[in-house]
Amino acid sequence: MQRVAIVGSGPSGVYAAQSLLDQELVPGVAIDVLDRLPCPYGLVRYGVAPDHEKIKSLQNNLRRVLEDPRVRFLGNVPVGTDGVGIEELRSLYPAVVYCVGAATDRRLGIPGEDLPGSYSATDFVSWYSAHPDAAAGRFALGARSAVVIGVGNVAVDVTRILARGTEELRGTDIPQGPLDALAAGSVTEIHMVGRRGPSQAKFTTKELRELGSLPGADATVREAELALDPRYADPDGLPAVARRNVAALRDWAGTPPRGRPRRIELRFFLRPVAVLGAEEGAVRAVRFERTAPDGQGGVAGTGRFEDIEAQLVLRSVGYRGSPLPGLPFDASTGTVPHDQGRVLREGAPSPGEYVAGWIKRGPTGVIGTNRPCAKETVTSLLADADALAARPVASKDPLDALRAMGQEPVQWPGWLGIEAAEAELGRSLSRTTVKIPDWSGLLSAADGHR
Ligand code: NAP
Repeated sequence: MQRVAIVGSGPSGVYAAQSLLDQELVPGVAIDVLDRLPCPYGLVRYGVAPDHEKIKSLQNNLRRVLEDPRVRFLGNVPVGTDGVGIEELRSLYPAVVYCVGAATDRRLGIPGEDLPGSYSATDFVSWYSAHPDAAAGRFALGARSAVVIGVGNVAVDVTRILARGTEELRGTDIPQGPLDALAAGSVTEIHMVGRRGPSQAKFTTKELRELGSLPGADATVREAELALDPRYADPDGLPAVARRNVAALRDWAGTPPRGRPRRIELRFFLRPVAVLGAEEGAVRAVRFERTAPDGQGGVAGTGRFEDIEAQLVLRSVGYRGSPLPGLPFDASTGTVPHDQGRVLREGAPSPGEYVAGWIKRGPTGVIGTNRPCAKETVTSLLADADALAARPVASKDPLDALRAMGQEPVQWPGWLGIEAAEAELGRSLSRTTVKIPDWSGLLSAADGHR
């Protein structure tokens, strides 16, 4: 068993490759890392906010794995839909590890959710991250007031990007279109709203503190709303992150506004019940019901309502996995059923099929969480090595087989061509590297290097 396909070149896929390389048990292993995009790194490239350069620099670690001579990057190869079928892939490789992440957003299921001006935060993130599938120019940045629903780290990211001055973003790799749109935008108030209390917020303290220290924005929170949470006055016994969050919010509440051009208001105990439209159909407000702790970690409605005015709504209530045609899928969790990374078909492990990352465990945790997750999967794969070696697979090089199926993979030199073109684009705009946001630009930059 020497050849393994990994589908997805984000952190979980690359950590799976690294884990395979680290095992000396597999002499001569050859790993193909497939991705539907011509670019590697998954959410590190297309999810981590452009102003988080330190986290983005993780790309350098992922790069070292993808540049290992035993690894081949095959970008621009869609698997499952309009591309290579699951069974076709299984006929080419003794083992396939699916690391396809959680590509869509969770829905709120409330009236008005899809009104013009209301978007999923994941779409907004894709847009400012230059994802080639992101729709250009559709965000209502002419808004004065924005509501961000949810209090996780993605909510913090989109709030921060709206609240940063464009001079702060110019030095990042944000594509020029979103930079110009944000510069021309007029959002001055951002309300980030949680349905539960401060001790239950999902953001991490570093991110929260960063949001509270932006040079162009005042960050406020209402002491009275914090105090609705019984753990606010009594944080002992809370998990460490929650305790630190509560302490940071106490600082926010005690800091008077400094008259900065933008204002971030963090709200708690408000659950969204409807996105309200103006006569012309666009968003004008979000209606929330005031909630109260139910004593068991949840909240109950109080029958009191509050409308927060907004012309832009970003729904940031978590990612969700999508089914890959041909692969089992549990719609209730948005994940592939598995046992220690072995894909389960009708309850039994399916020979040669594995999962790692968000499609295995759901969209939680930080990037590093994918390392042990991938290692567990690879440990299962290696334990199955004898059985995998006996699986009948095509003898020809999978790259030739993929080409024969009409695929035109972008290999590592093609990706280096994209990197060079992005550096050149940055120079032409007197900026640092600037991401190319469209398919044709990416593919033409990769051309000649395939
Ligand atoms: P998340 O951490 O799961 O947060 C989702 C938020 O949406 C929670 O506040 C949740 O509230 C709320 N929510 C869910 N359903 C709701 C509903 N129907 N109505 C109102 N609110 C609702 O998800 P995420 O922010 O998308 O982040 C995904 C993962 O990526 C996380 O593990 C995150 O830490 C990670 N990430 C990390 C960074 C970073 O390290 N800088 C940046 C971005 C993302 P409840 O708690 O009440 O359910």
